This record gives sequence, C-alpha cells and structure tokens, in this order.
Amino acid sequence: VDDVLQTLEFVDHHCHGVTSLNGGVPAFEQRLTESREPMPFNQRYADTSLGHALLAICAGVLDFLEKPRMEDYVERRQELGEAEVARRFLSAAGLSAMVVDTGFACEETSPADLGTLAGCPSYVVHRVETIAEEILLRGGDRFVQDLSVELTSAAASGVGFKSILAYRGGLEQLTGRPAEAEIERACSQLADGRLGLADPVLIRHVLYETLEVASQRGLPIQFHVGYGDSDLLLSSANPLHLEGFIREAMDRDVPIVLLHSYPFHREAGILASVYPNVFFDIGLAIPHVGFEGQRILAEALEVAPFAKLLYSSDAAHLPEFFYLASRLFRRAAGAVFGRWVAEKWLSQADARRVLEMIGSTNARRVYAGMGSA
Ligand SMILES: [Zn+2]
Repeated sequence: VDDVLQTLEFVDHHCHGVTSLNGGVPAFEQRLTESREPMPFNQRYADTSLGHALLAICAGVLDFLEKPRMEDYVERRQELGEAEVARRFLSAAGLSAMVVDTGFACEETSPADLGTLAGCPSYVVHRVETIAEEILLRGGDRFVQDLSVELTSAAASGVGFKSILAYRGGLEQLTGRPAEAEIERACSQLADGRLGLADPVLIRHVLYETLEVASQRGLPIQFHVGYGDSDLLLSSANPLHLEGFIREAMDRDVPIVLLHSYPFHREAGILASVYPNVFFDIGLAIPHVGFEGQRILAEALEVAPFAKLLYSSDAAHLPEFFYLASRLFRRAAGAVFGRWVAEKWLSQADARRVLEMIGSTNARRVYAGMGSA
C-alpha cells in the first residue's frame, strides 16, 4: 500500500489560489485557523495538530533537516520568497489535475498560474452566488433572464458549479423551487432596490435555476457543507438539509458534491451511500485535523461506497496546504488501507484500485468536462 501511495497522483477537485503573506509569524499562524480572531492570552493557533503537522512535514521542502521552530520556518520562507515557496510546494503535491474555485483567494494567482506551478492541467468551477451578485450589482432589473444567460455561459467555461449557500443564510432554505409569482414579486422589489441575494426566494431561484442548467449541460454542483469560518452557522451547514434538493437533482441526473463534510463526514457518507448522485470529500479536514486524519478517513468510509469519496485539499492562501493535504492524505490512507490489507479485508490489488479511484478516477467521472487522464 505504501508503494502505491508514494506514486499515486491526485485530482485535487477543490482548491483555491495562493496569496502573499505580507507579514511575519502572526500573519502565518492566522492562516492556520478558520477563526478571524486572534487567540486570547497570547496563545498560538500553531499549537495545534495542524500547526505541528505543518512544521514536521513541510520543513523538508524548505531544506530543514528536522522540525524547525515556527520563527525559523517563517524566516526561511521570507528568505526564499513567495514565488519559490509556492513553486516548491505545488510541484511536490503530486497532482494530475486541479479544479479551482476562483471565488476565494484567487486575486494573485489564476487557475492557469496554479496549473503551471503544480505541473498539471487546471479547471474552474463557478460560484453561482457570485454570478447572481454580479447581476444584482449591475442593477438586476432583468434578473431572471440575465441569470439564465450567465449560468449558461459559465457552464461553457467550467467543469461544474459551486454554491456557498451555507454562507448565504444556510442550507435549510432549499425547500423547493419558488413559484413564478413569488419570483416576480421578489424581482419587482429588487427593481425598487430593496432586496439582495439575502432574499430567500431569490437564493432558492438561483439554486434551482443552477440545477436546470447543470442538468442540461451534464455538470455537477458542489456545496460547501460542514467546517468553515465564523461566517456560517455550523448547524446550517449540515448536508442533511440538502436531502430534498439531492432528490430533485437525482431525478435530473445532476451529481451533488459535498465539500469538506467534516464534522458531518458520516452524514455525508450516508447520503453518498443512499443517493447515486451524491459524492463527497474530507478536504479541509485533511489537513486541518493534522496528524489524526486516519480516523476521519476511516469514518468517512464506514458506509460510503468507495466510488463516492473524492480527494481535495481546499488549499487557499498558503501554498503549503497543497502539499500538506497531499502528504497527510497519503499518510491517513496508508494507515487505513494498510490495516485493511494486513487484516485481509482487502487484497493488495483491491487497495490499489480503490486508492486510484479516490485519488483521481472518481473525480474524473464526476467532472466529465476534465476528460479521462
Ligand atoms: Zn474551499
């Protein structure tokens, strides 16, 4: 299993851009948390499973022979420069393709730049809330028509859609397609300048319209579920809220991809086992759970079919995350699959096949626009 994992190439199906740090140790450590606030009592976000895993695993790429102190690590980063640090970590991540969500941390690096750094093709998913908000910024008096046109044109340049509904009032809002009259009423209020995307009717319309276009174009829809920063209410990010929408998507043959999942990776796994159109990942959890990722991976695979789990890093801002996620996933997979082979639940050949599925072939099936390798 370890031999397979050393050379296994991943399709990173959910990641973002890298940005310059513009700061020292405090700025670096703030990148290691989803919190927007500094730690109280001068404690440190680097003093976590993630922080120690990062120093232990990333040190070698920056030429340290052993785990350095955070201060020395950040100094070495500055010595090498942002561009060289990004080149080293992305090229060492072992990726065969990447799918970039440009809605976050992509101000300095385009998907093409990231692909060049990682030495693999890159593809794009379009955030539907961003598309809708841009229309509203232009005035929005032809919101329904413009949305349909913009979603169709986005479908032509991307391999899927992404929704951050969890950050726009919560997943429980997806209670069904709004009636024509409701949409008209919301749009007329929009023309008065009174409503924005916070309106539950409009946000529902955006998602069901996305479902329509995704169905016509054969594209998947990704949803942020679970762990994220303090802009979302975690209880509103439980993927179980999506069950009604998932059923409608199933009737239209639209894959639904649950991103991050943790701490609802078991719920996500159950949805993936029950609905043929549901896929999920544990990106962000790995790397954020640091050196204990094997338990999360084993839990994610408790009932989920092996064809339903996808690899992702959810890397953003720090290039380290591309590499760290890749190394920690290999480590977690080595522990889980190594044990399964040792206990003779899986043969070596089974393990190789399943790891290749999770690493890349599952993603290539979901994102048909990528083509097979
Ligand atoms: Zn993300």
